[in-house]
Amino acid sequence: MQQTRIGASDVQEFIVTDKSLTPVVLTMWDQFVNNEVSLIVDKIDSMPIILGTCLKVVSYKGISLTTKASSFFALNPDIPEAVDLANWLIEHKEEVLNLLVTNDPDLSLASSSMQPSPQTASPIAIISQPTEKLPRYWAKARVQITKLNQQFWYMACSSCHKNTVAEFNQPFQCLFCKKDVSAKPRLRIEVNLHGNFGSLKAITFGEHAEKLINCTAETLMENTNEEGMCNLANVGQLQTEKYFLICLKKYQLQVQNEDEDRFNIMSVHDVHVKMEK
Ligand SMILES: [Zn+2]
Repeated sequence: MQQTRIGASDVQEFIVTDKSLTPVVLTMWDQFVNNEVSLIVDKIDSMPIILGTCLKVVSYKGISLTTKASSFFALNPDIPEAVDLANWLIEHKEEVLNLLVTNDPDLSLASSSMQPSPQTASPIAIISQPTEKLPRYWAKARVQITKLNQQFWYMACSSCHKNTVAEFNQPFQCLFCKKDVSAKPRLRIEVNLHGNFGSLKAITFGEHAEKLINCTAETLMENTNEEGMCNLANVGQLQTEKYFLICLKKYQLQVQNEDEDRFNIMSVHDVHVKMEK
């Protein structure tokens, strides 16, 4: 069972574990990067069982494993120990995924009472499974906007955020909340969330969207042309380098008579990134 990490071109790290649920870093060097690594990465989502022999055991941040020239690997080998481990994994998949997420060595959560504990963050692969039905999900993810021809913002009631035909700052009585309000631009952006083990599409609104693209709705509105198009890359960011801890709500949308899972971003929190020395 492993988790890919980005390394230099001739080295790749994985996190492996066994029934003890102790995460161990396995570092593959040189010829293994060209051969075994791509085989493992192809199967990474299914959390393959790995047999490794002639590995060097090193004491660094606990025990870790590294390849030698004589090392040998077999993926999902047909031996009783591997079958037993695979059966164990079926029952413990969620624990293993959570272990990998919370032991990502590059990331630790900033201390803030506003943030949930890291144990509540779920890998995106689990969240996006159709059988998963929870009211809220937490995911640790980077954000990217690939759909550039979307509208990004709409004019909204300043109180209930429903769509309005009123012009910017124009006072009006809202048809929905019946209050005397004014019209304010509000972001509505379709984003891709990239986390460990996968990615998913989500919709983000208002202040959360402003935080993710580092740009206010008013700035985006001012940079929108007569045709309603704006180049977000000129004023905000299309992708984040850093991870956020994101609260998601799943809902079903009917698309061509099929129920499709969609996700709304409910809140966005900073994740503190530890720098490698
Ligand atoms: Zn309203």
